[in-house]
Amino acid sequence: MLLRSGLWQFSIPVPRTGSAIPPFHCPMCPSKRLSRIGMDDMIAGGCQCGAIRYSLAGPLPPAYACHCGECKKQSASAFSMSIPLDYDQLQVEGTPISFTTTAFSGRAKHNFFCANCGTRLWHSGSIPPDSITLKVGSLDDSSGIAPQGHLWVSKKQAGIKLDQAIEQFDTQPDDVTEWRGNLGQNS
Ligand SMILES: [Zn+2]
Ligand SMILES: [Zn+2]
Repeated sequence: MLLRSGLWQFSIPVPRTGSAIPPFHCPMCPSKRLSRIGMDDMIAGGCQCGAIRYSLAGPLPPAYACHCGECKKQSASAFSMSIPLDYDQLQVEGTPISFTTTAFSGRAKHNFFCANCGTRLWHSGSIPPDSITLKVGSLDDSSGIAPQGHLWVSKKQAGIKLDQAIEQFDTQPDDVTEWRGNLGQNS
């Protein structure tokens, strides 16, 4: 329906029965699925509209933040947070689509997102994906995930203060793939 303000209101079905709203769920952000999928010890996430859901067995590898201009665009925010994973670790429901950009390294980067709501989910250097960087904001519960490294601090948004004990790069390491693989091992 079209509201008087001129904004479109989208109708998102919410389950009528089922478990109580879990603590990670924001009551202002209705979602198709309010419960985690899979077993209790599984970690779950998905897009904003619920068309794409994923789960994986924990624990999660360390996360890092990137403050570059591309990451500002992809997150529509001040920086991105990502977790390097093997795509095989994910159980995915729904089919993300992708578009391709060129990474700083010059290699192709495939950006996977929900075709319905646009939420960015993961990036990979190949199709089908193999090694991916999972977007932390797509997790149902990302509380407690602190970045273990910061890339492109030279492009950092004004007003964002970083933990000086965490590794920082003005740009990025020469071999960012190797750096990701060693994340959190020196802290
Ligand atoms: Zn979606
Ligand atoms: Zn970036």
